[in-house]
Amino acid sequence: MDPEMRQCCICGFVGPDSVRLAAGCICPKCLELISATEVDDPKYGFFVAKLKELWQAG
Ligand SMILES: [Zn+2]
Repeated sequence: MDPEMRQCCICGFVGPDSVRLAAGCICPKCLELISATEVDDPKYGFFVAKLKELWQAG
């Protein structure tokens, strides 16, 4: 039995462990990356914008 494969909307990684959001998925690696990113890090803004897109698309 194959687990459901989902593609991460941030890095494009495809795997069964991705977390489902309103309109997409995020892999555990990106989730970890997001939670490890400081709010004043420029990357944080990128992640938040990406997540916002996903929520609004749903
Ligand atoms: Zn990812």
